[in-house]
Amino acid sequence: MSNILVFTELHDGHVKHVTLEILGKLSGQSVDVAVIGDLSNDQIAELAKYGAQNVHKLKGAQLDKYSPEGYANALTNFIKTKSYDYVFAGATSMGKDLLPRLATKFDAGLASDVVNFTFENGTFAGTRPLFAGKCLAKVELNGPKPHFISIRPNALGMTTTPTSGSGAAHDVSVDAGTIRAMIKEIVKAASTKVDLTEANIIITGGRAMKNAENFKILDQMADVIGATVGASRAAVDSGFAPHSMQVGQTGKTVAPSLYIACGVSGAIQHLAGMRTSKVIVAINSDPDAPIFTKADYGIVGDLFQIVPIMTEEFKKLLGR
Ligand SMILES: Cc1cc2nc3c(=O)[nH]c(=O)nc-3n(C[C@H](O)[C@H](O)[C@H](O)COP(=O)(O)OP(=O)(O)OC[C@H]3O[C@@H](n4cnc5c(N)ncnc54)[C@H](O)[C@@H]3O)c2cc1C
Repeated sequence: MSNILVFTELHDGHVKHVTLEILGKLSGQSVDVAVIGDLSNDQIAELAKYGAQNVHKLKGAQLDKYSPEGYANALTNFIKTKSYDYVFAGATSMGKDLLPRLATKFDAGLASDVVNFTFENGTFAGTRPLFAGKCLAKVELNGPKPHFISIRPNALGMTTTPTSGSGAAHDVSVDAGTIRAMIKEIVKAASTKVDLTEANIIITGGRAMKNAENFKILDQMADVIGATVGASRAAVDSGFAPHSMQVGQTGKTVAPSLYIACGVSGAIQHLAGMRTSKVIVAINSDPDAPIFTKADYGIVGDLFQIVPIMTEEFKKLLGR
């Protein structure tokens, strides 16, 4: 059995979903969780339900906002007081920034953007996509421990039967050290919608949307059913939507309960980012569009006619 630390990132005070995916997959190992900041008793109980033995809440001056150096220094100091074999985190924007810094500080190996892994005899072996998903590389880590691993959100999926841990909470004082580059302000996108990677329902627009203005019809349906709007790369490259909305191999990997693809052909690089959605609905005017081979429900027709009809029907059904 390996000694493992999972660093959990907070997003507006919420534990990122990827943390629970990682914990579920690590069932059977001895796993602690570290957070920079505070967690409620309910959050600690949920982490324990997914297997956390100890939950370390790291606190110190200059750690109220993310700073690459401050977080790396604080975590390095904490990890040095323990004997972890592996340190996991989500391959989120923060995880992608933080883990290479930590690996460098420990002169240790890093497996980044891992989409699956096993632990055989306590040894990690993972897979990660290369060349925009054209192939999968097997990764093993050698050399000094701890080894560092970042996990692509929504790639592992949620385990249905997690093994629970004791969830003992500890407040730990840490030193952020010298910080030369501070993030002074984070300006949030105007959207109040749930982030794509955490969304339960997603409506995606493809190149067929024709322009940014037309995305309004997707926004209108999203408001009615509580969805987040995404975009294909063709829509993003055409300037209809920002890259933060892109679903797919070079965008976000998502796994909502319901994914509604509007005017998306279903290219392999798009499917790579959404194929694990529970229910897929495709609206496409071409009956031979590849998206229909992955869809649970397909509607052949013009999205500009179908989407407004669906929105009205959802309104009636949901009384909105
Ligand atoms: C290295 C690499 C990485 C990539 N990464 C990504 C990625 O992360 N995400 C991604 O999405 N793509 C990615 N791509 C691009 C991908 O190969 C496709 O080009 C892209 O997904 C196509 O987007 P689309 O389906 O919106 O457009 P198209 O392929 O042009 O499809 C548009 C669809 O809309 C339908 N349509 C047209 N008008 C209507 C209408 N009025 N009503 C209904 N349907 C209509 C058409 O029948 C067609 O099926 C990547 C490509 C490469 C090479």
